This record gives sequence, structure tokens and C-alpha cells, in this order.
Amino acid sequence: MSEAECIFCKIARGEMDAEVVHDEDDVLAFKDINGKAPVHVLVIPRQHVANLEEIGDLPDAVVKRLFEVSSAAAQKLGVTEGGYAVRVNNGPDAGQEVFHLHLHVMGGKRLGMP
Ligand code: AMP
Ligand code: ZN
Repeated sequence: MSEAECIFCKIARGEMDAEVVHDEDDVLAFKDINGKAPVHVLVIPRQHVANLEEIGDLPDAVVKRLFEVSSAAAQKLGVTEGGYAVRVNNGPDAGQEVFHLHLHVMGGKRLGMP
């Protein structure tokens, strides 16, 4: 999918609404529209990369920032004490639906695998 059509690129460009939790130059966090936990946030690089196979296209500092922003979002939404899961669905067997790399940050309830 092209960057013009990618829904997470549209959110990153401000062309599509989202409930933004954290906003900075290279990384954005917003609430999942169909949350599967009391806290369910998606953390994305503003730069379009489809999946982990393309993560080398991101500057190292942005990769680090994805995790720091995940922690900041969890802290802001009050789940650091209870704990939270950070998950990447990569490819069809994992159920990836949006092919713009994103970290799911989920908390507020007991989470198991998968
Ligand atoms: P994944 O299966 O990892 O690709 O997950 C994609 C996630 O994006 C799902 O949990 C969807 O609920 C979520 N999602 C899809 N469209 C939007 C949107 N416009 N705003 C926020 N979350 C979305
Ligand atoms: Zn994109």
C-alpha cells in the first residue's frame, strides 16, 4: 500500500482523526479505534515502514523512541504499575491488518499470550 493510501500515514499527516496520546516529531501514539483492553494505544513511526523487515529504514534513534513513547503512553494512562504488553503483529499469521509498523500498548487488565 502506498503512503498516500496508508491510514496510519493519514493519521500521522493529520488527514484522519485519532485520539492522540503522545505527539512528537518522529513518533505518534494514539488510541486504538477498536481497543481490546481498557488501555490500548498504537505507537507508530511517522515515517512509513510496513513491518519489521523494513525497520532498518528507520534511524536507530526512532526505533528506540518507539519504545520510550510506549512507556510514556503507558505512564500517562496509568498502567505502568499494573503492567502492560507491547506487541507487534507482523504478517498474515499474526493478523497484521495495517501495513504501517505499529506497537500495540495494552494494559488495564490481565493479559496473557497470545
Ligand atoms: P494490526 O492487526 O496489528 O495491524 O492492528 C491494527 C490495529 O489498528 C487494530 O487494532 C485496529 O483496531 C486499529 N485501527 C485501524 N484503524 C484505525 C484508526 N483509524 N484509528 C485507530 N486505530 C485503528
Ligand atoms: Zn503508512
